Amino acid sequence: MSTAPHIAQMDAQTQRAWEAGFAVPDPEVPCVSVGDLGILRWVRIEEGTVIAGVTPTYSGCPATLAIELAIEAAIRGAGFDHVRTQRVLSPAWTTDWITPEGREKLRAYGIAPPVDGSNAGKGALFAETIITCPRCGSDNTQRISEFGSTACKAHYQCRACAEPFDYFKCI
Ligand SMILES: [Zn+2]
Repeated sequence: MSTAPHIAQMDAQTQRAWEAGFAVPDPEVPCVSVGDLGILRWVRIEEGTVIAGVTPTYSGCPATLAIELAIEAAIRGAGFDHVRTQRVLSPAWTTDWITPEGREKLRAYGIAPPVDGSNAGKGALFAETIITCPRCGSDNTQRISEFGSTACKAHYQCRACAEPFDYFKCI
């Protein structure tokens, strides 16, 4: 399940901490884990302390602190006494970091996953991007508002089946 590029280099202890952190559900989109979203960047153990690198989905996302605390708690729950998180702001998170499994889970949950390659420029978030309805698969959708249930999502409605849905914004 873990697709981090460095997973092969982890020892068993580090891998256990990584997998505990990986499985933490995102507080805003609980159908996907922070690992699925790519928010958890890495885990390493230094002098007995587990350090987990966390990249917020966007700068100032109010959920970031909650995510960090949840990751710390999960890793402690896996049997580590000393755990802390380190905020990793560079490189900035992009929706490209969402795993294929994460995209599938978003779709199954009724959230249209980010469109590949549409995040080239921040100024062109919604420019001519075709969003496919997660319910019926129609491309005939319209944006209702720029903000869905959270600031990270936009609200859309399908013209074919009338289903309203959230679209995970490309950042
Ligand atoms: Zn539809």
